[in-house]
Amino acid sequence: MRSLLEDIDAAASFPGHLCSGIVIGVRMARLALGQLGIQEPHRHRDLVVYVETDRCPADAIGVVTGCTLGRRRLKWLDYGKIAATFVDLPANRAIRVWADRERTGTRGDEGVLEYWEKIPDEAVVTVQPVLIEVPPEDRPGKPLRVARCGMCGERVLDGRESEFAGKQVCRTCANGAYYRKDSPHPP
Ligand SMILES: [Zn+2]
Ligand SMILES: [Zn+2]
Repeated sequence: MRSLLEDIDAAASFPGHLCSGIVIGVRMARLALGQLGIQEPHRHRDLVVYVETDRCPADAIGVVTGCTLGRRRLKWLDYGKIAATFVDLPANRAIRVWADRERTGTRGDEGVLEYWEKIPDEAVVTVQPVLIEVPPEDRPGKPLRVARCGMCGERVLDGRESEFAGKQVCRTCANGAYYRKDSPHPP
């Protein structure tokens, strides 16, 4: 198992900087892995993590756990909270952790590592065992279902289609797009 400093180093070199968010994310992940009894997260293929932020702790949590979006083991929820839930699928156990920076006070002139060295986990992170149902269509592995949108014709994997005006349609066609079509860009 990697040490705390090795994990911080790996997490800091992935997005390219060392900040409090990286240290907090590393500590959240290590705490949760410890509670779940997972020693070697990079060899544990049945770990799924829901991150509730798209800031630095999310990158750190991905690096420490080895969970990635593309493997369907990192789920992003846009809640704007420094929180994450770590799920051990076969053991059916889950731990949610959340961090509160305001409990630790502001950092003075010292470096990030020196500052965080003095602060114990429990001063900044709260741990809560939780129950979570990971639906079959959200789990790692081959898509259980592939549909074709009855309106735009694009393929929809993993059961994300829904019934709309008597057709199976994608979320864009059902709810509206997050983009607007532009005219072709000049070469
Ligand atoms: Zn950062
Ligand atoms: Zn569509």
